[in-house]
Amino acid sequence: MQGVRQSSAMLQDVHFYSKRQMSSVSKVECYVCGKGLMDGHSITAKTLLNDTVLFCDVHYPLQ
Ligand SMILES: [Zn+2]
Repeated sequence: MQGVRQSSAMLQDVHFYSKRQMSSVSKVECYVCGKGLMDGHSITAKTLLNDTVLFCDVHYPLQ
């Protein structure tokens, strides 16, 4: 059961990321350090409480 919930949350994140990337590429940057795709980082969206925030590959495992 827990595994199913995790994978559906992941699909939501990917969907949000794709939508956001199409509408405003320049806004895709890490919530912590402000670095983004243009700095060579991969960005992952994560939903915390009611907010969706973006993390780079450095800060995503730390939050
Ligand atoms: Zn970062």
